[in-house]
Amino acid sequence: MKIQFRNEYITVFESQLFRTTTTVVQTDDLVLLVDPNWLPTEIDFLQNYIAKILNNRTLYLLFTHSDYDHIIGYQAFKGAKTIASDAFIKNKEKEAILLQINQFDHDFYLKRNYAISYPEIDILVKKDGQQLSIGKTKMTFYLAPGHNADGIFTIIENVNCWIAGDYLSNIEFPFIYYSSLSYEMTLDKADYILKNHKIELLISGHGDCTSQLDEIKKRRDESIQYIQTLRKSIQTNKPFNEATLWEKYAFPLLQKKYHQANIDLIKKELGK
Ligand SMILES: [Zn+2]
Repeated sequence: MKIQFRNEYITVFESQLFRTTTTVVQTDDLVLLVDPNWLPTEIDFLQNYIAKILNNRTLYLLFTHSDYDHIIGYQAFKGAKTIASDAFIKNKEKEAILLQINQFDHDFYLKRNYAISYPEIDILVKKDGQQLSIGKTKMTFYLAPGHNADGIFTIIENVNCWIAGDYLSNIEFPFIYYSSLSYEMTLDKADYILKNHKIELLISGHGDCTSQLDEIKKRRDESIQYIQTLRKSIQTNKPFNEATLWEKYAFPLLQKKYHQANIDLIKKELGK
């Protein structure tokens, strides 16, 4: 599997599909696996990789949110201690999400050597600033609704990284499935996080991770600007400059439908 980034503690793998990231963090206390994803060969690879490095440590399996591409590898890592938000287990669309996984596998004639099911969660993230300490390894979580209803941000203190799920990507503008206002409020947490944690790496769910603080802020600003400009164009019935959007994002033939879905969602929010 492609390695997008690696240092002493962190390896960011990248799937061939949608440039989706799988993160592995290793400390003396644990191995943390985040959103193991996509193709059966990639999951096989990750299973072997984890088996090789685990070395009597406990495996923690974290889900940034419940979108099907992020939970697709769950059962391949049975026995891991799972982490996700409280909203994740309260998701009412569990069956629909599993159907998306099955549909994907049928569409491409894919067989997996593990069952598909919705993750059961051992450690629930319920509020901003919640911490989890395992030995000397400390994680701090923030709720991150907006993209969908059950996202979380995870800061791993000792290795100075921020795992952001489907926010702050350099290859996707905000895909808003849940709420544009929640999305903005989640982005507003970036400043607090950057002030209160030492961040040397931001890992987003799709696209490139970055170690540049300016780049993180730029992504945050562009996301907020996209949402606010789109909302304003709908409020005032003035056209949104789509051409500019597609100068920056390389896959309009797919991403047009997410932009259109954002328009539909914001119209609904505004009662238009
Ligand atoms: Zn997602």
